[in-house]
Amino acid sequence: MDAPVTDKTDADLLILGAGPAGLTAAQYGARANLKVLVIEQMAPGGQALLIDKLENYPGNMADKSGFEIAQDMHRQAELFGARFITDTVCSLDQEDGGFKITLGDGETLRGLAVILATGTKHRTLDIPGEAEFYGRGVSYCATCDGPFFRNKKIFVIGGGDAACDEAQLLSHMSDQVTLVHRRDRLRAQKAVAQRVLTNPCIKTRFNTRILEIRGKDKVESVVLEKAGMGKKDEEQANAVFIFAGTLPQTALVPDLKKDETGYVLTNQRMETSIPGLFAAGDVRSSPFRQVVVAAGEGAVAAHCAAAYIDGLRGEAYQ
Ligand code: NAP
Repeated sequence: MDAPVTDKTDADLLILGAGPAGLTAAQYGARANLKVLVIEQMAPGGQALLIDKLENYPGNMADKSGFEIAQDMHRQAELFGARFITDTVCSLDQEDGGFKITLGDGETLRGLAVILATGTKHRTLDIPGEAEFYGRGVSYCATCDGPFFRNKKIFVIGGGDAACDEAQLLSHMSDQVTLVHRRDRLRAQKAVAQRVLTNPCIKTRFNTRILEIRGKDKVESVVLEKAGMGKKDEEQANAVFIFAGTLPQTALVPDLKKDETGYVLTNQRMETSIPGLFAAGDVRSSPFRQVVVAAGEGAVAAHCAAAYIDGLRGEAYQ
């Protein structure tokens, strides 16, 4: 019998990122008897860790949090034999029919196939005051920073699921939440949007843009402009939570085929334009980014990566 993969050894399947896609791929890869190594730079769970109640995950009637579900996924993958290390992957290269990655300390690891499950990072607005007051009233995470602004005047920027979910969460801490969106209606899923629109603690400002965040040592006001009015208003504010969408983390693979917004293109087997390199989860071009979708894509990617490795070894089931 093969020796089990220990930390920082080569593997059959390298999985980059341990969000829901990477965690599910790890479980399925290990169940396919592959030596699976997952490399994650933060904690397993990715952005799902920040979800207060993962209420739309099938079967999660007990309203477990994203953190709890991610812990379960992690444990389950480890039970099937997947190994995890915490490290940064600095480069990914093709080598001898397989792949080589370089970690933060310069160490290299090899695998026959790779699943890219690196997810996304938040998009910034790039307006005056945003970078200056980051950590001093400007935030991209209500779960992390909301408790600092109990009963304070909070602005939430964006009209998608994230802005609505996070505004809802912030409304449990303050009844002075204002959601500012540049269009005349919300982009979010209807059930998510409806909760915001009927929440007495959340005001909405449609057709409105935030132009600037002002203050001395911390956020003190925001400058807003209503479309068509040609007038700017400065309003007192203690915090600005920004949810202006996401950007895919693809710096490791500049040459991969991507869509017009930079997300990785795959076929239905989750195969990218590079043979042996699969992609799953939020980093992949997709019309709907959900934990359940990421998990499903992770399962498909691992299944097809196992078949690909069988092919390399001349063991494909014809
Ligand atoms: P999103 O759906 O892309 O929404 C981003 C919002 O920010 C949009 O309303 C957009 O306006 C606005 N925006 C973008 N740039 C802006 C700018 N420069 N100034 C002002 N507003 C700006 O992103 P998201 O809400 O982060 O969600 C990302 C993905 O994760 C989505 O697929 C979403 O469904 C999923 N997600 C799901 C849940 C859930 O199921 N509960 C929760 C969180 C995220 P426009 O509408 O005008 O483009």
